[in-house]
Amino acid sequence: MAKKQFKSESKRLLDLMINSIYTHKEIFLREIISNASDAIDKLCFIALTDDKLGMTRSDFKIFIEADKDSRTLKITDNGIGMDKDDLENNLGTIANSGSFRFKQELEEKPDDIDIIGQFGVGFYSAFMVAKQITVNTKKYGCDTAYCWQSSGADGYTVSECDKQDIGTEIILTMKDNTDDENYDEFLEQYRIQSLVKKYSDYIRYPILMDVKKSRVKEETKDSDKPEYEEYTDRETLNSMIPIWQRPKKDVAQEEYDRFYSEKFLASDKPIKTIVTSVEGVVTYKALLFIPSATPYDYYTKEYKKGLQLYSSGVMITENCEELVPEYFRFVKGIVDTADLSLNISREMLQHDRHLLTIAQNIEKKIKNELNSMLKNDRESYEKFFSAFGRQLKYGVVADYGMHKDELQDLLLFYSSTEKKPVTLSEYVDRMKEGQERIYFATGENAAAIDALPQTELLRSKGYEILYCTDDADEFTLQTLMMYREKRFCSATNDDLGIENEDKDEDKKDNTALITFVKETLGDKVAEVVESKKLVSHPVCLTAKGGISFEMEKYFNAVQPDSGMKAQRVLELNLSHPAVKNMESLIQTDINKAKKYAEVLYSQALLIAGLPLENPSEYTDLVCSLM
Ligand code: ADP
Repeated sequence: MAKKQFKSESKRLLDLMINSIYTHKEIFLREIISNASDAIDKLCFIALTDDKLGMTRSDFKIFIEADKDSRTLKITDNGIGMDKDDLENNLGTIANSGSFRFKQELEEKPDDIDIIGQFGVGFYSAFMVAKQITVNTKKYGCDTAYCWQSSGADGYTVSECDKQDIGTEIILTMKDNTDDENYDEFLEQYRIQSLVKKYSDYIRYPILMDVKKSRVKEETKDSDKPEYEEYTDRETLNSMIPIWQRPKKDVAQEEYDRFYSEKFLASDKPIKTIVTSVEGVVTYKALLFIPSATPYDYYTKEYKKGLQLYSSGVMITENCEELVPEYFRFVKGIVDTADLSLNISREMLQHDRHLLTIAQNIEKKIKNELNSMLKNDRESYEKFFSAFGRQLKYGVVADYGMHKDELQDLLLFYSSTEKKPVTLSEYVDRMKEGQERIYFATGENAAAIDALPQTELLRSKGYEILYCTDDADEFTLQTLMMYREKRFCSATNDDLGIENEDKDEDKKDNTALITFVKETLGDKVAEVVESKKLVSHPVCLTAKGGISFEMEKYFNAVQPDSGMKAQRVLELNLSHPAVKNMESLIQTDINKAKKYAEVLYSQALLIAGLPLENPSEYTDLVCSLM
């Protein structure tokens, strides 16, 4: 029979598996069992909605047989099975687009047990222990059974075979033992028992094995020298109770962690595990996880939000998006309710009254948990916020700020005085007497904002400033507009609502100087004013009107021809020597005074992080003055 080649990507991956030095080879069993359980889920679902199949839930099982003589391990399920196309598509290709990344990660982190499942290459992991894999399978609704066979990277064959029952059997012929590796161990019954317990205990179908045991012979029971005999007993190796059905007090956090990583193919540990059980108008159990790290595809369209939805232990849909609001899309988990019909279609789900109520409850629950984490476990909350804070900010901005009231108290911003992230409420509680605004400043990072002359006055007067270093920060504050009746005010705003009284002593008329600078700069600036906020810097730029410099930068970056431009106000520090110098030059050397005005304006642009209109002109100008 002609051998078919694996798709090239799959082939490379296979090579890697076969030759892997992976220290957790044992996870192959978990992967095969999970696939069997998924296949049963599919047929079980059909059985529950279609009487013609003549099977009930209790008929479904997974069976493990180890044969030391032939050195084979056989895993049989009576799930949905595969037809010829399925075999080609599912076992001949690695469908998951993340397989290249997987390869990289495996090379970088050969000890990470969770990356195999995470990338949907579970079946191939069997090649870590098997030199040959045979899959005999018959699909529900199909008359022909097929045999898929492969000894690794050189390809696979598919042929028709004899198989009466629907379902799949996977036969692994173990690799030969080497000095370093003993593959026979995976044929030992105690090893199989403990692997099933460790990785697959929550699988909801019985995983059966004929276990050899020994007992005292009946007839020698009462004698002084009792004799023993061997017998086999069909044992269910897993406890089968879904983890979310077990009372929280009976489940160790490690079990939840393991469930989380296996079920959701996650490589982090959840930062919060939420278990809830509700009885009343709607009855449901939910097990929710807040991840501790941003999934690598989180901000791409590959990432699927939603919770797994079960109806009385049977999975109805893998990603029920309606169950979590967009701004909590990082939450993973499952919801199990008896109140839904198994036949419910996707369209009907969206409008289902029970589901809407569950979704509302879940949203409240997540919010409460986040609030309590913020109050009681600040360190974890900050970790959570650095992973998903941006999502919450998007949530504030989205839908024209419709959800801002729900989310504003969950936000954190870095504080200039506290030198750590703070909440808006903490800021307002600390506000100085008479302070009417919540000040914020925007920049690349804290150091850059510290260096902004515009923040100098605020800082010298002891006002706390919130630092917006994330793209989404300023938009978030603009959307909020107010918090506890205090307006947000940018440090680069022309009016900060505070006066620098020290400056007012000097009541000299400066109209001539101001007019001179404005005329020199022309349309480049909307206005030139005497600064009330500068202390040690000669100039700074502030923005007038609704558009800030950060918005200008942002929009020009995403759409270069947007024409978005903030109105520039050049503030002059009249007591600064450079400005004084310029003033006296107006009388003695007006051309030089004009050059001074241009240089000072360019410096103000640079400090604001805005591009110079003409950098070479600027350097020429500076050189001519030197
Ligand atoms: P994943 O399970 O992450 O999709 P795998 O490589 O483990 O990736 O399996 C590939 C596919 O092969 C599965 O998605 C499934 O469609 C099919 N498959 C594997 N094992 C079985 C089985 N026992 N019964 C039916 N289909 C199976």
